[in-house]
Amino acid sequence: MQLPMIIVHGGAGKWKDEKIPIGMEYVDKAAEVGHAILMKGGSALDAAEACTMFMESCGKLNCGKGAVRNEDDVLELDAMIIDGNNLDFGSVAAVKDVQNPISLARYIMEETKYKFFAGQSAKKIYDEMIESGYRKEVKSGALESSIAPDSDTVGCIAIDTKGNIAATSSTGGIKKKKAGRIGDSPVMGSGAYATDQCAASATGWGEHIMRVVLSRMVVQYVETGEDPMKAAHRGMKMFEEKTGSEAGIIVADNKGNFGYASNAKAMPLTVIQGMSAKKMSTSCQK
Ligand code: ASP
Repeated sequence: MQLPMIIVHGGAGKWKDEKIPIGMEYVDKAAEVGHAILMKGGSALDAAEACTMFMESCGKLNCGKGAVRNEDDVLELDAMIIDGNNLDFGSVAAVKDVQNPISLARYIMEETKYKFFAGQSAKKIYDEMIESGYRKEVKSGALESSIAPDSDTVGCIAIDTKGNIAATSSTGGIKKKKAGRIGDSPVMGSGAYATDQCAASATGWGEHIMRVVLSRMVVQYVETGEDPMKAAHRGMKMFEEKTGSEAGIIVADNKGNFGYASNAKAMPLTVIQGMSAKKMSTSCQK
């Protein structure tokens, strides 16, 4: 039995050699956080949110507290969560002073009639979320942030024991990006996508990921019969041929079959499957 399962990545990019083991360590811990929730019968959404929150709070990955800063030396964060069961999602973009944008994205999905908020308006929704008691206040990323790591976007796909799928992405974006720049991570279909059959989460150069709507394409390959591992490789081949850029992708279906591929230097990744918690970790180094 391969369920429940979780697959987590810490970003595809030009990792410094000495940072790769750190990325792997924190991705691994995040996968354990999510899998523990699934083992207790928790939902895919709860596991995906908790796993992503862990990465946002750890300060070692390019998201939340550890996110890279923009050209004005400010953290502007993007995140998305998707409920594959009903193709529902919540997204935030260029939000400041919020350490866990993934929880804000979930609040937007579950508690508002909208899907996507950006900038100061997203911060206002965050304040509303705290006031409502939906989630507790966590000190802002901007205040807490220490040394920005050389790492990339994070994301995960969780599948609970009932076969429900949830996917996430969360990022500080590209280092020294122009203020207000928004990448693929909060864009439905590009940074991630999920249906009741399959999900994908992407990382890499967002401007190019959006051009090919990478996550949606890879999910489509699985929906039309491709094995998830083959679909991941086909997606990366298509991406490279059409854009010549760098990215990575994780994929999983509702039976717990998974795939991944990257054409970047490295992409730390952990998968934990089943009640026996079978674990596989790789840095996907070229
Ligand atoms: N995809 C992210 C972005 O373009 C960056 C990354 O994955 O490292 O914002």
